[in-house]
Amino acid sequence: MSDWISLAAGQSYPAGTLYVVATPIGNVADLSLRALHVLGLVDAIACEDTRNTGQLLARLGLQRPLVAVHEHNEREAAGRIVARLAAGERIAYVSDAGTPGISDPGARLVEAARAGGHAVVPLPGPSAAVAALSVAGGLLDTGAGRFTFVGFLPSKARARAEAIAGLAGLDHAWVLYEAPHRIAETLAALAEGLPGTRRLLIGRELTKLFEETPVLSVAEAPGWLAADAARAKGEFVLVVEGAAAVAADGAPDAQAQRVLDLLLAELPAKRAAKLAAAITGAQTDALYRLALARRGDDGAA
Ligand code: SAM
Repeated sequence: MSDWISLAAGQSYPAGTLYVVATPIGNVADLSLRALHVLGLVDAIACEDTRNTGQLLARLGLQRPLVAVHEHNEREAAGRIVARLAAGERIAYVSDAGTPGISDPGARLVEAARAGGHAVVPLPGPSAAVAALSVAGGLLDTGAGRFTFVGFLPSKARARAEAIAGLAGLDHAWVLYEAPHRIAETLAALAEGLPGTRRLLIGRELTKLFEETPVLSVAEAPGWLAADAARAKGEFVLVVEGAAAVAADGAPDAQAQRVLDLLLAELPAKRAAKLAAAITGAQTDALYRLALARRGDDGAA
């Protein structure tokens, strides 16, 4: 073990540098050895919440001065930290959990340090998004491994539904964060706004005692949550499969065809194809061709 720590200690950690340190998202043992070393050697640790970080340090057996840098004071606090970097101090920045800057503060401080001519060094580690993606398996197949990180959806129902409609057509997976008090609404909105067969991974309480990572269809997800009242108490990251709505022969899948047929009963072909594409994630061109074929016309609609 001591050999591993000396590997972390053997690297040089220049003065006047901001160290951006990822911290555990649940299990304290996920802190990296380099992070442990750097948190012990810096002159101060800037953090989102001094109480939270104080508890982490106590568990690690470390004591360092803490400076509060949260969403509401990040700009002013950044100025004071840059002055300390200029005086040659080493400062670490940690958010409450996971990787700073990922749906967390940190970006302003990093900008200020760079603008002041100081080196900014990342110490990589846990992030709920990457942890969930690492067990998403075949959900990443549609986009050949590509994904979009979305973070939190808007909290208002209409804006959330619009955001989902905008994401529905992505041909690759997307990653959402959600708070326990909104998870039921978000799963319901996904079931409403996506084809029911679209799969998602629910990463609940990752790295913690009640960790679960079921893969379900979006239609099943609200029922899964409701089946056990304890489930809603937890932290959630969702990986939603990308639209695979075009079959190998280029035809929209059965679900997309059903939606198109319903819309064609009310709307011109072009409008029906566009709306069906937004709802199902299938490609507009393929739907339009199908709409014309259904109508038996030649493209005049
Ligand atoms: N910076 C963090 C990261 O790198 O993952 C994310 C911070 S964001 C404010 C907090 C959100 O991350 C939570 O609401 C939840 O969606 C997700 N999250 C954090 N810890 C988690 C965990 N242990 N299991 C599942 N999701 C988690």
